Amino acid sequence: MASPRFRDTGRFVRRQAPTKSFRPANLADLMRCFDPANKAPTPIRVRGSGSASTDCNDCMSGTVVDTTGLDRIIGIDSYNHTVTVEAGVRLGSLVAALAELELELVGNHDQLQRTVGGAVASPCMGPGIGNNAAFLSTQVVSMKVVTPVGKLMKVSNQQQHLLSAFRLSYGMLGAIYEVTLRVRPSATFSASHRRMTIDTFADVINRLASRNVGLKFYVMPYLDRVYLDLRRYEASAGNSYAPPWKIKDWGESTVLPHVFKSLNRVMPIQSVRYRLMDSIGAATHDLVNTRLVKNGNNNTSAGRKRKPRNRVQSTWCFPASDFSVVIKAYREFCRNTLEDSGYRTDLPAAGFRIGNDTSALLSPSFDEPLIALQVSSTQEKGWEDYVIDFAQFAENWGGTPLFNQSRSMRAEYGHQVYGNRLELFRKIRQQLDPQGRLLNPFLAQYFS
Ligand SMILES: Cc1cc2nc3c(=O)[nH]c(=O)nc-3n(C[C@H](O)[C@H](O)[C@H](O)COP(=O)(O)OP(=O)(O)OC[C@H]3O[C@@H](n4cnc5c(N)ncnc54)[C@H](O)[C@@H]3O)c2cc1C
Repeated sequence: MASPRFRDTGRFVRRQAPTKSFRPANLADLMRCFDPANKAPTPIRVRGSGSASTDCNDCMSGTVVDTTGLDRIIGIDSYNHTVTVEAGVRLGSLVAALAELELELVGNHDQLQRTVGGAVASPCMGPGIGNNAAFLSTQVVSMKVVTPVGKLMKVSNQQQHLLSAFRLSYGMLGAIYEVTLRVRPSATFSASHRRMTIDTFADVINRLASRNVGLKFYVMPYLDRVYLDLRRYEASAGNSYAPPWKIKDWGESTVLPHVFKSLNRVMPIQSVRYRLMDSIGAATHDLVNTRLVKNGNNNTSAGRKRKPRNRVQSTWCFPASDFSVVIKAYREFCRNTLEDSGYRTDLPAAGFRIGNDTSALLSPSFDEPLIALQVSSTQEKGWEDYVIDFAQFAENWGGTPLFNQSRSMRAEYGHQVYGNRLELFRKIRQQLDPQGRLLNPFLAQYFS
């Protein structure tokens, strides 16, 4: 069992110590966890790799079903371009198995320690190219699910409405046991990088966001700097080599968080510490986000396999059409927050474009393309207040929250944003789980 620690999502602060934890090794075990005859304490929460930033995958008193033992890749159909896996398969294992057959996931998904189940039950997104690359759940063709009362159910794309409710269902309609996903032949894209000021970025972002490009960026608000990474499919993009992407990922996800964590410990003078962090951050990004990678595919650019333990994060999404204004407001927000509270995030914020996607009832980008803005830091002291302020900032700018990644989202605001779709999901949930066996207090705020 994980060592006890504190985590909160704005409203609840509590000790993370579930009364029971199961790690089923096969379907029969999984069904037994949910069978009411076995009297597992409720609520029952399904968990993949546990990397969500909110309490959607956890419960204080009840049962956690850890799906990582369900890790079989059942079959890859290289003719029809589909793959069938158990829900606990890690994205990294799947990406590697597909690469051997020169296939790849549709969309650019990093954090390879995540499970397929977690990544289709909650928004799993990255800088994929094109509109059908928004979420991994978009590619689900069918799934087998263990219902809240332990029965096996198959949902396929012949039941479009039901399948759309099960995609991004955050484990509230049952435990996904097996998933069939569309995949595709590996395709090399070209990646071009630019360094610019926030004002220049604001001038170009609306135009770029409406194009068929993969778009990722890093913002350093205190230096007034953006590193932009644009990805396109070209007729002759050339070869894709994995080592430069590994170095880039190592710089961004390992070197910076480790160095900043140490600086937070050893350098007591805040102004000096922040100046140092900004210059180290800029030097690292100058190195890894300018000329290092030129070509890639969804396998080589997928990033790290380890759980991101060294930082905390909160992500909100904003309409792509307004992002030029939002990014300037974000710069002001960061500067004002630092002045008022003395707190700032030490890592650059990351962002990417998410295409318009109506494949899931709870899709965050159901109505329009969005830009996800992910703030993260190695400094936990002051973080909880910061994410409350950031949630308020996001609300003021029409942000869309994610139930697995947006810290401190207010229930009323969640209802307002997801509106009728949330109501419909709630009705489906009540049909499948009338006793709320799978609903923990965090999710009950929005879905009871
Ligand atoms: C530092 C950091 C950076 C991150 N960066 C990104 C990013 O760039 N892009 C991104 O998309 N996400 C990001 N995330 C969020 C996180 O990786 C996602 O929430 C991820 O999709 C969750 O996968 P998981 O296997 O860890 O699932 P978990 O966190 O364990 O679960 C997530 C949700 O899915 C449900 N679930 C899990 N397995 C099943 C199943 N078998 N059946 C039914 N429901 C299930 C859980 O109940 C829960 O509601 C980041 C998180 C952190 C901490």
